[in-house]
Amino acid sequence: MSYPRKLVLLGATGSIGKSTLQVIRKHPEKLKLIGASANSRAEELFEIASEFDVQRINLTKPASSKLTPPGQIDFSCGEVELSQLASWGEADLVVVAVVGAAGLAPTLAALEAGKDVILANKESLVVGGKLVMETAKRTGALIIPADSEHNAVFQCLHGQHENSLDSIALTASGGPFRDRPLSELDHVTPKEATNHPNWSMGPKITVDSATMANKGLELIEAQWLFNLPPEKLNVLIHPPSLVHAIVRFTDGCSFAQISPPCMTFALQNSLLYPERSPGVVPGLDLSQSLELSFYPPDMKRYPCLRLARKCMEEGKSAPLVFNAANEIAVEAFLANRIGFTRISDIIENTLNQFDHQPAHSLKELLGLDNIARDMARDQVVRAS
Ligand code: NAD
Ligand code: MG
Repeated sequence: MSYPRKLVLLGATGSIGKSTLQVIRKHPEKLKLIGASANSRAEELFEIASEFDVQRINLTKPASSKLTPPGQIDFSCGEVELSQLASWGEADLVVVAVVGAAGLAPTLAALEAGKDVILANKESLVVGGKLVMETAKRTGALIIPADSEHNAVFQCLHGQHENSLDSIALTASGGPFRDRPLSELDHVTPKEATNHPNWSMGPKITVDSATMANKGLELIEAQWLFNLPPEKLNVLIHPPSLVHAIVRFTDGCSFAQISPPCMTFALQNSLLYPERSPGVVPGLDLSQSLELSFYPPDMKRYPCLRLARKCMEEGKSAPLVFNAANEIAVEAFLANRIGFTRISDIIENTLNQFDHQPAHSLKELLGLDNIARDMARDQVVRAS
């Protein structure tokens, strides 16, 4: 792919969106932003459009109908229009940094149009993994994982023979409540839960890190990306978040990818792949002592991880229901409607109530997603 690579960035105003913009600022000769989207924050999106001289923008759910975008820009509103932007013929790469299942439709639209996708949005693989992977295979589009653990695996696999992968360990910090007595978890606040010890991220994924639902979603994400059975996918708690994944090959040798806990490493690797260039922030200081410890998670502390693993093994609509119930429960927790430990209860009850079935199209997947959300909302009412 020649330079500059023309990028469309979906979810430009979020945490991943901002890190992506940092990488573009660092490499203006290699990366050109031509399209961008945000959910509702018009002013921020307009500022990005002005700074990067973007040609086309989308506000998916505008808060106001009276908006004046800068200059002669092509400005659209709505979900269908978001998918149109994702499949725009001018783009070389589409970065999907939207949060939640809302990322599925634009991811599919980009892949259907044969666009290579840099995927931060793990929920799209959890909800529609089979459809997403089949679409990419059919159109020949590449999915480059930008989630740090999956990008780490992607880097470790580079140059290796296709059949040589044996198993993977994704690392996790254990979140802000890693060492809290279990009896105190009922009373932790959204403020505490959104204060991650290592990473600076959006509110939903930060709560997901505290419950480790995030690592559960990532196991399912890895299952699709790397085509491994559940028993070959592991999680290890690694408090400093320096090693992002460990990949073991069939001969017993393992590779790990190590970098400071900052998303610009994984994003730059995806955006410039397969080239390497100086990064946005300094890499690891190899003259200092390094303490790297790893241990398996305690499933009593992280019931969401236990449930996600069960869903991964069960397949069909179970991962989709897990994701939908988790999104609703996290939203309710952030709004102070339910306690922290109710998040896993709501997911478990919704999973138990649901009549699991396979879904083959985007329409069927979104239909099941809606049913699961309604069930989870009932659970929230009961729990609040
Ligand atoms: P965020 O909440 O900070 O940003 C989300 C972005 O998506 C914003 O630009 C927002 O305007 C847009 N958006 C929100 N809801 C939308 C909707 N319904 N339709 C269209 N656009 C919508 O989230 P984030 O932390 O940047 O995470 C984005 C995705 O990347 C998530 O799937 C997350 O799991 C994944 N991810 C994030 C990190 C991280 O460090 N933040 C790391 C790995 C993976
Ligand atoms: Mg991750």
